[in-house]
Amino acid sequence: MSEIRIEHVSKSFNGQYAVQDANLTIADGEFLVLLGPSGCGKTTLLRTVAGLGMADSGRISIDGRDVTYLKPGERKISMVFQSYAIFPHMTVRDNIGFGLKMNNVPASEIQANVAEAAELLHIENLLDRRPSDMSGGQRQRVAVARALAMKAEVLLMDEPLSNLDALLRLEMRAELKRLLADVNATTIYVTHDQIEALSMGDRIAVMKDGEIQQVDGPSTVYDHPSNQFVGSFIGNPPMNFLTGTVSAANGSVSVAVGPDQITPAAALAPALKAFDQKPVTIGIRAESMEALSSPVPGAIKVSVVVVEPLGPQNLLTVGLGDQRLKVSTHPSFPVAAGDDLWLQFPSDQIRWIDPKTEQVLS
Ligand code: ATP
Repeated sequence: MSEIRIEHVSKSFNGQYAVQDANLTIADGEFLVLLGPSGCGKTTLLRTVAGLGMADSGRISIDGRDVTYLKPGERKISMVFQSYAIFPHMTVRDNIGFGLKMNNVPASEIQANVAEAAELLHIENLLDRRPSDMSGGQRQRVAVARALAMKAEVLLMDEPLSNLDALLRLEMRAELKRLLADVNATTIYVTHDQIEALSMGDRIAVMKDGEIQQVDGPSTVYDHPSNQFVGSFIGNPPMNFLTGTVSAANGSVSVAVGPDQITPAAALAPALKAFDQKPVTIGIRAESMEALSSPVPGAIKVSVVVVEPLGPQNLLTVGLGDQRLKVSTHPSFPVAAGDDLWLQFPSDQIRWIDPKTEQVLS
């Protein structure tokens, strides 16, 4: 059992919160991704779990043991950093075994752990080489192998793929996912890359300005963001946000978008009634709208500004009054800049957002 519990953890630098009241429980064997833009506090939070930076307040426990004030070496964790932190002039074998040697592990055990980690990462043939004359991807594998060789039940990774080129990153992402599923360590993985987070995490904790915004599985943070920030940070393109005006009369609720009307799902009508005659933000993903070449009742008329063919889809930028939307269509759908289109907004795909709090209504 290696559950990690982070309770009310805060950390400030120069009077500014880097992490504010973080609460997070990572289950035994879970792969949790900390995701957010640069400077949102991901690394600071990870460092408090690692013991490289003490929390100002709050409590961190691993496997039920309070580690808040323990040194890194006393926490039974293993780490991989963005910079790899491997020794260029030491052989790969010695690099992988370095942490174990520091912990005075017997030589036979080091040898066995190094061999096993090297095999997992397919670098058995590199054991006698030096990282100084290896590629970025190979060095990355060495850094991960070194962390795995420690056989710690908790693995902390800070942007481990960020120094790799796009293709290698894609390859390593899948490899790491397979590997981490095999070793079953409880993992916290920091990244600012939302695709990496969606593709790898069992759950994703989205951070902004030192605060955790949402913690959920990848499909939930994508489909049901808790607020406008999460919808805008996750997804490429980000979720669209449009302004509409609510009208609630005679028990029915509709939302005017320009000259057209959207009827919300019945379950959301009570929450929207509170916005009668006021603006509301409509959140919808590019692929959630259906584009039609001719008008149908309930569809919203837009004009196509730009068509970007992206292979499996065309990404359209369309204008709705002075608002802009991204819409994805199948490449076989005939469309050109300047065309009029009609968009259907399926009511179960719309997220209604309070423009003041930016929270999604439920
Ligand atoms: P990145 O993705 O760019 O690494 P991050 O989300 O990991 O960003 P942190 O590195 O945790 O963010 O930084 C959070 C905030 O704390 C930032 O405003 C940063 O400038 C500040 N900060 C972090 N470490 C220190 C430090 N040692 N001294 C002063 N301020 C710091």
